[in-house]
Amino acid sequence: METETSGGEISLSVMTDVTALKQAEGRNHAQAITDHLTGLVNRQGFENALDEAILSADQCGMQLACLFIDLDRFKWINDNFGHAAGDAVLRQTVERIQAALRPEDVIARLGGDEFAILIAATDVSALASDIGECICAALHEPMPIAGNELFVSASVGVSVYPTHASGASDLLLKADMAMYARKRDGKNGLRVFDASMLDAARERHEIEQCIEAGLKEDWFEAWLQPIVSLVDGRIVGFEALVRLNHPEKGLMPPGKIIGISEETGTIGRIGDRVLEKAIRHLAAISELDGTRSTYLAVNFSPLQFELTLPHKLAALLLKHHISPQRIVVEITEAVLMLDNPEVHAVLKQLNEFGCRIALDDFGTGYSSLSYLNRFPVDIVKVDQSFMRSLSSGAADVRRKSRMLIKGIRTISHQMGCTVVAEGIETKEQWQLLRKLGLDYGQGYLFSRPMPIDGMLAMLENESEAKASAPA
Ligand code: C2E
Ligand code: CA
Ligand code: CA
Repeated sequence: METETSGGEISLSVMTDVTALKQAEGRNHAQAITDHLTGLVNRQGFENALDEAILSADQCGMQLACLFIDLDRFKWINDNFGHAAGDAVLRQTVERIQAALRPEDVIARLGGDEFAILIAATDVSALASDIGECICAALHEPMPIAGNELFVSASVGVSVYPTHASGASDLLLKADMAMYARKRDGKNGLRVFDASMLDAARERHEIEQCIEAGLKEDWFEAWLQPIVSLVDGRIVGFEALVRLNHPEKGLMPPGKIIGISEETGTIGRIGDRVLEKAIRHLAAISELDGTRSTYLAVNFSPLQFELTLPHKLAALLLKHHISPQRIVVEITEAVLMLDNPEVHAVLKQLNEFGCRIALDDFGTGYSSLSYLNRFPVDIVKVDQSFMRSLSSGAADVRRKSRMLIKGIRTISHQMGCTVVAEGIETKEQWQLLRKLGLDYGQGYLFSRPMPIDGMLAMLENESEAKASAPA
């Protein structure tokens, strides 16, 4: 620093060596765009690289492909093997991805278990698919981590510039959409973006909004479908089935809602509403003659098995004067396959409390009979698909379906379980199932699911008809 005096004025000139400052700035910038676990560029760095690549691609007539990679079971690995194992999986993932790339390709970690790749070529589509397939295959090989062989796989989405997008963030978004479509198609593989995914994303967004609004405005309803004794058609219980009753769009079936709400985490709140309303409905039904011993079956998603569930249920039952013996908790094998100690504990508590557990959709999926042994299952619900193949199709298929149903019935009964047939639509199916020795049934033949008012009216009519029938 120097000071000078000239003509009575003091001027100050400062000279500093800026090299160190520049270097520090460079370091800060590098740090800001680097992922510290893997040493790759992060999302910010990737978007910068995409911007630059788009500029130069325009100048030299090249195409770009963006690959969006998301591991399929990463959360499960983190939860079950710990974060150190999770970090090791991420590092190995990077190594395997890098082995599939050319030196000039850019790879980034966007966050969590998400990676992105940027490829430039004159005809990029085929190359991107080849590289993507190669990465999927490499990641599908078992990973030796801390003495275990872990099985990882990845879902990959591909988008191409300029075909699918005109800017960096849009290109990345479309690769993300394609990856997401692959997840929905069964994971472990590659999908290239196409315009139909925009419609799907829009519809999904709309449904998410309907769910949020439905929770706020109380549009969720618990409809009921009777479950009858196959011997005489007498109603033994009711299954609660969720409906979102939108004031303008009308009814939305669970098929549209459940999957999305499981992904976004709203299923817990929806489940609470349905449970509360369904129990209230059972209390209303119980006011009618001859309905005191009917039961209520409620569907539960894997995510609903929180430790608080038994208490929540107990409080509701107390409030509505319903005994726990009248409640059936319907779960699918997906719940049992989680093999999660929390789920075990909750099922055990529910069972000790007096509730029964039904295994839903039996005969689809793995249908491992060992579940009947390992979990407190009281009821087996034979999937609708069996009813269909029981009465339609080739004689051979019909015969095999009969044998399968008989087998399920025999083992279930030996394990002390009641067997319920789902989706009975014809008298012929009813007769056949009765002959096969199934206990209960449910289906359009007896009644479609309906709102509580309709159900109460139907039950009242029935009991009046019975009362006025000649003895
Ligand atoms: P699910 O538990 O297997 O329920 C039976 C489904 O079969 C219901 O469809 C019912 O309306 C339909 N159904 C009943 N009888 C017949 C018949 O004779 N023929 C045919 N073709 N279908 C019949 P819905 O109401 O659309 O529910 C679909 C699925 O959504 C349910 O399958 C269940 O897995 C799930 N779900 C429904 N409500 C809830 C809920 O409150 N919570 C959860 N987590 N899942 C629910
Ligand atoms: Ca069910
Ligand atoms: Ca079912």
